Amino acid sequence: MGAIAKPRALGDVLAPGDDGYEQARRVWNGLIDKRPALIVRPRDASEVATAVLCARERQLPLAVRCGGHSVPGYSTVADGLVIDLSAHMGGVSVDARSRRVRVQGGALLGALDRATQQHGLVVPSGHVSHTGVAGLTLGGGTGWLMRRYGLTIDSLRAVEVVTAGGEIVRASDEERPDLFWALRGGGGNFGVVTELEFEAHPLGRELVAGMLVYPLDRARELLAFARDWSERQSDELTSFPVLVTAPPQPPFPPELHGRPILAVGVAHAGPVEAGLRALEPLKRFAPPALDLAGPMPYLALQTMLDAGVPHGLHNYNRAEWLDQLSEAAIETLVGRFEQVSSPLSQVILGRMGGAVARIDADATAFPHRQAGNLLWIVSTWSPNQDPEPHLGWARETHEAMKPYAAGGVYVNALGDEPDERVRAAYGGNWERLAQIKRVYDPDNLFRLNANITPAASRAPA
Ligand code: FAD
Repeated sequence: MGAIAKPRALGDVLAPGDDGYEQARRVWNGLIDKRPALIVRPRDASEVATAVLCARERQLPLAVRCGGHSVPGYSTVADGLVIDLSAHMGGVSVDARSRRVRVQGGALLGALDRATQQHGLVVPSGHVSHTGVAGLTLGGGTGWLMRRYGLTIDSLRAVEVVTAGGEIVRASDEERPDLFWALRGGGGNFGVVTELEFEAHPLGRELVAGMLVYPLDRARELLAFARDWSERQSDELTSFPVLVTAPPQPPFPPELHGRPILAVGVAHAGPVEAGLRALEPLKRFAPPALDLAGPMPYLALQTMLDAGVPHGLHNYNRAEWLDQLSEAAIETLVGRFEQVSSPLSQVILGRMGGAVARIDADATAFPHRQAGNLLWIVSTWSPNQDPEPHLGWARETHEAMKPYAAGGVYVNALGDEPDERVRAAYGGNWERLAQIKRVYDPDNLFRLNANITPAASRAPA
């Protein structure tokens, strides 16, 4: 495709050959290597609207980017137009008195966490601070505080969106409630989000959190024990056991260097004493080979995993919800991890429930409120390696775990997958979402996402 002239109205825009284009076209997953015709970097909602209309008029495929962490690479497009909000729209402002937090559509989790913690507040979000707030929130938002405060969408109170028609609108429980419902779990299907308004929660600067690390040969008994232990805990405790390979460096003891391990990630959103007490049974059952859990600043918790998932590596993921973590499921999973193809890969198990489960499945577009566990298989390897063994390991591990799956899949963990899996991500909310899509994006301009095709007839009542 030939070069596309840069319309001046677009403001800050990069095309192939421009200084900064090579850097700006890259997304987190190095496996995704696309060359957009234009990368527009808006400064406000009206510049976003101009870019949306430009893509429409010129019939350019349109991608929208915040943190760029979509594993299947939805936030870039070959020969199309990318609206990248991360360059100039990353601001966060906090009104401590009303506990309202306004977040621009290109902000990263780290900016949100730093701004809220200045006031002893928090908006529950994800595990890695370089993820985008908008992308994570639109799919739901799981993280360290979810059993206490719910998913990220459960703290969302209003959204400013640029629609496919280039209109700047606000959605909340009072204004366009159907659109607000759809934005809470419906992915990037309904427009470009230029601002999110959250209600923050009080959280001291320190909480009991971190990781308890064990060699993989103890993973079977520990996963079973941790499952039963976590069921007895209050909602203040959220746990994420992870199968991963220990890096060859301190603080990991030499005998674990380069060895597969179980790291039981924990966060207790309550008083420090109660958090320490909550961890006691686990530590008594099996003293960890490395104990990295204790009182720590919330900001340290929120950046603890950043270095392990850097930009530019090659990634492929598959996920399922699991109701029960049965002995057979544990045996299969640990057995698969014993054959992991890359020391960079991991399997994440998130214990759901708590505040997440106290909201009805149709109250927001996120339907999987009753899921027991989130299983997330992430295959990661170096750019110079043959991808096949790593793709194969993730696919085979996914196949092996299917007998234990509860059905459906988390939107934020979808790979590039067939239509029926995308539908399953929205479960019983699909029909209503498709009707709302028809109202706000009838031509499916916003289709680089876990895509909801507009319903063919009948607008929602
Ligand atoms: P992008 O690639 O920029 O966007 C992802 C999708 O959202 C695209 O379809 C894009 O078009 C759309 N989108 C982004 N911004 C906007 C906007 N302003 N308006 C409209 N649509 C928009 N998920 C969790 O729930 N919890 C976690 O703890 C978690 N940790 C992660 C850690 C890593 C290292 C990675 C790679 C992913 C993680 N995820 C997690 C998944 C993550 O939430 C999704 O990949 C999410 O879509 C990423 O958002 P982003 O803004 O960074 O990505």
